[in-house]
Amino acid sequence: METAPPTIEPTQKPAINGSPRFESWGRYPTYDAALRPMHWQGDFPALLNGVYGGALAVGLGRSYGDVCLLKGGTLLPTTGMNRLLDFDAETGLLTAETGITLAQILDFAVPRGYFLPVTPGTKYVTLGGAIANDIHGKNHHVAGTFGNHVTQFELVRSDGTTRLCSPTENPDIFAATIGGMGLTGVMRWAQVRLKPIVSRLVDYQGIQFHGIDEFLALTAESQHVEYTVSWVDVASTGKNFARGIFMKGDHSNVPAPLTKSAKPKLVFPVEAPGFALNSFTVGAFNTLFFHKQMKKSVTALQDYEPFFYPLDAVLKWNRMYGKRGLLQFQYAIPWDHAREGTEAVLRAVAKSGLASFLAVLKAFGDVPSPGMMSFPKPGITLALDFPIKPDKSFPLFQRLADMVQEFGGRLYPAKDAAMTPAQFRAFYPQWEKFARYKDPGLTSSFWERVTGQEPTR
Ligand SMILES: Cc1cc2nc3c(=O)[nH]c(=O)nc-3n(C[C@H](O)[C@H](O)[C@H](O)COP(=O)(O)OP(=O)(O)OC[C@H]3O[C@@H](n4cnc5c(N)ncnc54)[C@H](O)[C@@H]3O)c2cc1C
Repeated sequence: METAPPTIEPTQKPAINGSPRFESWGRYPTYDAALRPMHWQGDFPALLNGVYGGALAVGLGRSYGDVCLLKGGTLLPTTGMNRLLDFDAETGLLTAETGITLAQILDFAVPRGYFLPVTPGTKYVTLGGAIANDIHGKNHHVAGTFGNHVTQFELVRSDGTTRLCSPTENPDIFAATIGGMGLTGVMRWAQVRLKPIVSRLVDYQGIQFHGIDEFLALTAESQHVEYTVSWVDVASTGKNFARGIFMKGDHSNVPAPLTKSAKPKLVFPVEAPGFALNSFTVGAFNTLFFHKQMKKSVTALQDYEPFFYPLDAVLKWNRMYGKRGLLQFQYAIPWDHAREGTEAVLRAVAKSGLASFLAVLKAFGDVPSPGMMSFPKPGITLALDFPIKPDKSFPLFQRLADMVQEFGGRLYPAKDAAMTPAQFRAFYPQWEKFARYKDPGLTSSFWERVTGQEPTR
């Protein structure tokens, strides 16, 4: 691994015309777009001057597909607009411009005894991105989504009008914007309620399981634990089918120093060659990962960084998938069909030989999401990723997406690059109601794809 001073910025590569290109984390699809970075709250809508055919505010491009892309349009990266505006040490209420990252919030908050109320599997996302996709974390079963902890934000429309939004002020726009994929306007700043902690450490337990029934039993007996998530082996069949490791933890209540995290030093050095990830290497990885934990159950006091953000230790790890990138697939299937649906999907993936090695399984709880278009619903969620092999990955994706639809589930726009307009309408029947809140000056390649709209550019 090369070591380098880390730059936590959206991935930008020179496009054909030499200007930087904003990429999403899956690096598929890749589109050229003009970039007009935002630095000040007043930059929007001023930056739209002379823009023809739509724009989109974007964060760190940690969405996997095209929800943060706009082919031939104008992207407005927000990471330069990242000031902390207010913090109440009594209540934990933090107000910041929306380009601030969760990593920057943690650097500020942890030494003061506070943690994020909900965090995804990477801290390199912006506050705006966290709200616009209404992200979920390992504590969904007790805390709901990120939006459940947002108390207010300011939304600016492309016509220059501004609205203060909260559960009680403009509640309909509040609901449309949380999980609204950046399409209802640009959030300038937002306020979120942090949660108190007394230690960086997490009381961790990892338990091996074999099969979905054991996973469900562990889920049921761990309802009182704040964080639960599982890694599942999607390459094995027979007696090892759906084996995995159930990981759970609570913030330690034994007071310990609340220091700031060190910056990551490792960067994935080069694009891996296309053949590096194949059914053999992925199968070997899955076996190694399962046996990394030798005993049926292990307990440890673990720092929050490896517990919440194991992948953040190596920057740019998405290069591992080679130049073609990766396709993510994350579903939520409601409890009625969650067990059979999950087994069916896992069997189809194992049979395809296109195994994924970052397979994450979790039970969503029943805390209602505040967003009109939020993804989570009570049941099981499974996230998979596949290196892109054009003739194989997309047909498999479509088979799996159809299965999810049959089982009454839906896919996550933040992780998507391939759902069809018909699937989107079935997954999100409320989309037409949502479309009434859309800002006519803003759009995304995801939105144009799933609503079947022809770009005007
Ligand atoms: C390793 C990894 C792990 C992940 N784990 C999880 C997980 O556990 N749970 C989960 O839910 N997600 C997870 N994600 C997905 C990620 O959390 C979301 O895609 C998140 O929205 C990315 O934020 P971003 O700042 O990179 O925004 P981008 O990806 O750049 O943009 C996301 C959306 O936010 C909108 N947006 C950004 N800023 C603003 C603004 N100021 N105003 C209005 N709209 C705005 C954009 O228009 C876009 O629609 C993971 C991603 C990675 C790479």
